[in-house]
Amino acid sequence: MNDQYAQLTRRLADADPDIARLIDTEGKRQHDSIRLIASENYVSQAVMDATGTLLTNKYSEGYAGRRYYEGQQVIDEIEELAISRAKAVFGVEHANVQPYSGSPANLAVYLAFLQPGDTVLGMSLPMGGHLTHGAKVSATGKWFKPVQYGVRADTGRVDFDQVRELALAERPKMIICGGTAIPRTVDFAKFAEIAAEVDALLFADIAHIAGLVAGGVHPTPVGHAEVISTTTHKTLRGPRGAMLMSTAERAKPLDKAVFPGLQGGPHNHTTAAVAVALAEAARPDFRTYANQIVANAKALAAAMVERGFDLVSGGTDNHLILVDLTGKDIGGKPAAKALDAAGIELNFNTVPFDRRKPLDPSGLRLGTAAITTRGMTEQHMPQIAAWMDEAVTAARDGREQALAPIAGQIRDFCADFPIPGWSAS
Ligand SMILES: *Cc1c(COP(=O)(O)O)cnc(C)c1O
Repeated sequence: MNDQYAQLTRRLADADPDIARLIDTEGKRQHDSIRLIASENYVSQAVMDATGTLLTNKYSEGYAGRRYYEGQQVIDEIEELAISRAKAVFGVEHANVQPYSGSPANLAVYLAFLQPGDTVLGMSLPMGGHLTHGAKVSATGKWFKPVQYGVRADTGRVDFDQVRELALAERPKMIICGGTAIPRTVDFAKFAEIAAEVDALLFADIAHIAGLVAGGVHPTPVGHAEVISTTTHKTLRGPRGAMLMSTAERAKPLDKAVFPGLQGGPHNHTTAAVAVALAEAARPDFRTYANQIVANAKALAAAMVERGFDLVSGGTDNHLILVDLTGKDIGGKPAAKALDAAGIELNFNTVPFDRRKPLDPSGLRLGTAAITTRGMTEQHMPQIAAWMDEAVTAARDGREQALAPIAGQIRDFCADFPIPGWSAS
């Protein structure tokens, strides 16, 4: 632990011992478990430092050079730096770094280019899409007319015949590609072809895979999708936040939709941390990191298949694995709870064509971004698959007492992989 950080935690402990204790407990939990939640990561100490600064004190409604409050000399520079880094990392003409998170970023895209009631074609939630891609319970499903595509039953991959048929029949104003439980590469070119055929705007949501795109291990949507959104906290390994990117032509409506359309003042401490994360993503070692994420996912998928786990689409091209537990005789929820008790953190998830209910589905979703940040490599994946198998089997057979010993082994294992922001001492 560095000095400054020790001082900070001491100050926090003096000012608010309850919160300090809870943060420390969470630090231990994040340290002692194998975190396979596909949307999570461990940010660097530098990113954490930036989020914990006095930039949080400043109000900055508007954009650089056009603010509604005075005193923006420094904030303008920080935001412009974040924007220029985003443009360089992703090779885009325009970037907006103000969205508070992925969901409001996506809502801004609707606000910028659609009218209420307009038709939108997106991937359905149970097939791997996100809530904001037109799910019934979301504002995007309530205020717009969603049409939803899915994957093929035989391949587990996007059903492009269905996408094209729906596009031709429904003439959507916008087509959304990307999602939250997609273990395979998104074919942006194919989506662009269909969007062009029906004169729809193509919007790529790369929240999960942004770090892989930045690291050159997933094809880029740039050149295919005019509008792109991403969270900054998943594979991109920045603070919780989001960015919108676009062609120069789409820039103005997009900016106006974020502010004043949906948001007030941007979170400047987050903007600074996004800039730090983007500088990290531009370094050569981030390419190594992105490569390792995928290598780990492929190795983990192979080890799981060997242990009889059924994977949607048979494997993975990216950081994410979607497991169908139907053949293992256990639901996703009891399996996820047992794994959590055993020190392996992930989430239960619907699988395509799930026969169980959304709150008690058949699947598990996992990803390798966080464990790769900790330095785990292919050689560790068979052991992780073995622990998962052991825990899931124990839960199925009602041997809950077998879970705590696994958690103990995992705690010992994790001690060799330090995380920024917490240490045992
Ligand atoms: C995570 C995610 C979002 C939403 O991000 P939040 O920051 O949780 O609002 C949007 N789209 C996709 C595809 C995601 O995976």
